[in-house]
Amino acid sequence: MTMDPGRAVTPIVGVVYAARLYETGEYRYVGITSNTVEFRRRQHLKAARRGRKTPFYDWLRKMASDEDVYFQPIELVVNGSLEDLGEAERRWIAKLRRKGHRLLNLTEGGLGPRGYVWTEEQRRAAGDRARGRKKVNVPTGPDHPSWGRTHSDELKAHWSRTRKGMNAGADNPNFGKFGSEHPSFGHRMTDEARQRLSEMRRGENNPNYGKSASAETRAKMSAVRKGRPQPSSRRSAHTRHHTNKGVFKDTCRHCIDDMRAIHSEKNKEEE
Ligand SMILES: [Zn+2]
Repeated sequence: MTMDPGRAVTPIVGVVYAARLYETGEYRYVGITSNTVEFRRRQHLKAARRGRKTPFYDWLRKMASDEDVYFQPIELVVNGSLEDLGEAERRWIAKLRRKGHRLLNLTEGGLGPRGYVWTEEQRRAAGDRARGRKKVNVPTGPDHPSWGRTHSDELKAHWSRTRKGMNAGADNPNFGKFGSEHPSFGHRMTDEARQRLSEMRRGENNPNYGKSASAETRAKMSAVRKGRPQPSSRRSAHTRHHTNKGVFKDTCRHCIDDMRAIHSEKNKEEE
């Protein structure tokens, strides 16, 4: 017998689950996970405690105890792809809605955010709610809830296999969206936000801080650039990309020098 080891080890793609009160038979939410239902349940409860605003989380928050809600596995999807898992979710949502269960799902199921398109009003309201809201910093190091925990290689391989390509090409929700079609179109960050992002990745905080590329990597980078004309110096790069285009960069030594020169000229005139 020949076996594809990748498939033989983990034929489970994921689980469709439904949430309901322990004491009633009415399902209120259908979801899918490629982890365990118990793991997903804890994620949902955490998101609810953090105040996420969707009908499902609003409903979860109304419970006196986490134990009031039962996350019930309803279908195990095996030997397929994530698409199949999404399809199974779609089927269950349609079926349960047809039978009169008042599901709180915002979408009809299936993968990714493409199932639900926000109206302009909803986007604006969400923006207003989020603006100025500080992100709660998750502690790093030993205080992080996942500190010291690792996922098994088997589980990681499984995730890698089942998620491969899920945002690639036409499957990407932003595929083919350019200009005003693109969600980031016209998005400008405030100087303050830019500054914050910049500081977060500077010096010791930069993931490459203190690291240097191996000889092998450097050879690769060099090979890629071979034959591609490069400015012969920083100075000529500055002239070409900054002076000639009217660009000022505070990270460019020559821009700073030019600026100083202009200032001292001015000062002389004023003296
Ligand atoms: Zn410059």
